[in-house]
Amino acid sequence: MELTPEIRLKAILEGTGAGTWEWNLDTQEVIYNDRWAQMLGYGLAELQPINFQTWEDLCHPNDLHEARVALARYLNNEAGQFECVIRMHHKSGEWRYIHTRGTLLTDEQGMDTRWLMGTHLDVTREVVSQHHLEQLSRSLPGIIYTFVREPDGRYYFSFLSEKTLDFYGVSAEDGVRDPERIFNMIHPDDLAMVHESINESARTLEEWVCEYRVVVNDRVSWVRGVARPEQDPDGTICWHGMVTNIDRQKTLELELEQLSITDELTGLYNRRYMLRKLDESVAESKRYGDTFSLVSLDIDFFKAINDAYGHPTGDAVLRGFSELVAQRMRESDIVARTGGEEFIILMPHTSLEEAQAVAESLRLALETTDFLSDDGETFNVTFSAGVVSWSGGQMVKNPVRELLAACDHSLYAAKRSGRNRVVAKTGY
Ligand code: GH3
Ligand code: MG
Ligand code: MG
Repeated sequence: MELTPEIRLKAILEGTGAGTWEWNLDTQEVIYNDRWAQMLGYGLAELQPINFQTWEDLCHPNDLHEARVALARYLNNEAGQFECVIRMHHKSGEWRYIHTRGTLLTDEQGMDTRWLMGTHLDVTREVVSQHHLEQLSRSLPGIIYTFVREPDGRYYFSFLSEKTLDFYGVSAEDGVRDPERIFNMIHPDDLAMVHESINESARTLEEWVCEYRVVVNDRVSWVRGVARPEQDPDGTICWHGMVTNIDRQKTLELELEQLSITDELTGLYNRRYMLRKLDESVAESKRYGDTFSLVSLDIDFFKAINDAYGHPTGDAVLRGFSELVAQRMRESDIVARTGGEEFIILMPHTSLEEAQAVAESLRLALETTDFLSDDGETFNVTFSAGVVSWSGGQMVKNPVRELLAACDHSLYAAKRSGRNRVVAKTGY
């Protein structure tokens, strides 16, 4: 059998499952193929007589207008093709979504009358899944999306759900058209980290999980993205995932973190945080030979203050002293209440002499500050302090422990030699 263009066309149409239709705009003659009728559950014979009315009768009345508009646009050269998706009535009683396409065969193609010819494809499953996806994405608390990265590094969103607008202040359409519209909304301090985490997920093909800030109209919110990567044989990676708002969680987390490093009575840092920072300073000094200093303070005869004026006044002294210290310290200094009436100040990038001078000025400031008891009695308070500094030079086994011990040693020396003084320990 010869493979004529007709046979090939028929085979192709059967392969696609498309119904065909031909409509002569001048004579109103209409021709459908068998598949056209089968798609709606009929045999062609059942639909006789076949004419334009046959199509119109099967169309959903609400969709007819849309079809007519699409046709008019095409015939007025406003669209390259006649194309629309309309509902048509299936013999079973259901409505099926039919993707309709058509083109005009014109005079130039040797026709003496105008034939509009095209195909019908049943896209009900696609339309229904699309509808389900839209409904699902609306009821989800976040954005669902698909992000694609091609082997040459180009990337884009192939799908973004509607809520993109709520989260990023950018419509889903704009985000699909240009991924930078989305990335531009990420907090500048988090952007590099977000890109790096995507690279990491691309390298390992492990789930992408990332928490970052989004800034829309100067409003910052925390979001969390989770997506599963999937790699094609050509190296293209698709991430299917979701972005949710974690503002409340993050605020709580940050508050909790703040609480865990803060001393409740004074609002200064606590011992735990000071030790963490001391570890960091020690590591930095070891690496770069940088000098830092440590001041250990203990209020003198504090028990006597409590005994004389009561515990609440004692507390007020602790708070007042803390304010006085905090006001005088640089931002990089870490001031911690490490015990009842004991404090440690960690001063990064500070020599022993500088730290000693700061401690001395604090000592003077406290000595000259008047405190008031509940009974209206004025009294003064002093402290003793030990100062030590380290540049990472000496090979000590446990620098943190040894420095704290050395600092305390100086503090006790200050106490022993009469209190209200600062003793610096040289030799480290
Ligand atoms: P020294 O000059 O040797 O340091 O004498 P001191 O009385 O300050 O030292 P001691 O260690 O004997 O007493 C510390 C006192 O601090 C005992 C304790 O009741 C008191 N104290 C500890 N924590 C608090 C607190 O949170 N509030 C109050 N008001 N007092 C506290
Ligand atoms: Mg003490
Ligand atoms: Mg004391």
